Amino acid sequence: MATRIDGKALAAKVKAEVAAEAVKLPRQPGLAVVLVGENPASQVYVRGKEADWAECGMRSFPYRLSTETTQQELLKLIDELNANPEVDGILVQLPLPKPLDEEPVINRIAADKDVDCFHPYNVGKLTIGEPVFRPCTPAGVMEMLEEYHIPVAGKHCVVLGRSNIVGKPMASLLLQQSGTVTICHSKTENLAEITRQADILVSAVGKVNTVTADMVKDGAVIIDVAMNRNAEGKLCGDVDFANVEPKASYITPVPGGCGPMTRAVLMRNILTAAENHLK
Ligand code: NAP
Repeated sequence: MATRIDGKALAAKVKAEVAAEAVKLPRQPGLAVVLVGENPASQVYVRGKEADWAECGMRSFPYRLSTETTQQELLKLIDELNANPEVDGILVQLPLPKPLDEEPVINRIAADKDVDCFHPYNVGKLTIGEPVFRPCTPAGVMEMLEEYHIPVAGKHCVVLGRSNIVGKPMASLLLQQSGTVTICHSKTENLAEITRQADILVSAVGKVNTVTADMVKDGAVIIDVAMNRNAEGKLCGDVDFANVEPKASYITPVPGGCGPMTRAVLMRNILTAAENHLK
């Protein structure tokens, strides 16, 4: 039976470390959070993050904008936040409601305030192994592996999903730790054949029961990044947890695994941004 990786406990530890460092700064680290529209999931995420930054002693600059907000108005707000010396990090909650275009917004955020690590400059720095910020979800996964002394070097790491926010940066971080990385996606042929070779399997697909017990090698480490709702409306990941847990050596639960760590790494990134600005 696998050891359950306790992302919630590790996140609490990381946030306590961040809070202890934040109070040493001459001013509170500041985070602007921009939420456009009424997407209920986004509202829940933002409320959760607000609780985190209060806990970490950070100052928040909340912007709740209506669905009628134009692209130009949003870009103007980003320019103002870029110029505000009390704002260390800018977080635009995605997805943006239509017809707003996300890419120009992400690209407009000053790279030194891009605490989500979505800006092409920061993505490039990450890819060449010189990250300014580490992307929150993948970095949270790496910290869980480290905490549980799970070796990555030389291991076959299989990542399901190739999105810019999870799959690709996840592969970059595993590669930097000398993992042998395979990235799978919706066009991958013989998926189960590949996942069965994984020493570490990271699933970031967003579909219930993508990873079933027959797709997993005995003793594999299973990291479930996804946040889905099952038929009963309960939060769950991609992995058939009940049947995969007995085969795995380590496994992350959903909830209580990757989610809390994503938020904790975001807090660390805001602290890093503030430290850089105050240098
Ligand atoms: P996304 O942009 O929709 O990407 C999903 C990826 O899965 C795509 O690359 C897609 O391939 C691939 N895929 C789809 N069906 C597949 C299949 N049958 N086999 C293998 N790959 C398949 O999603 P995302 O933003 O990366 O998020 C993924 C999941 O992680 C979601 O459930 C999301 O809610 C969750 N998430 C969690 C956190 C957290 O804090 N825990 C943070 C971010 C996201 P193609 O590229 O070919 O379409």
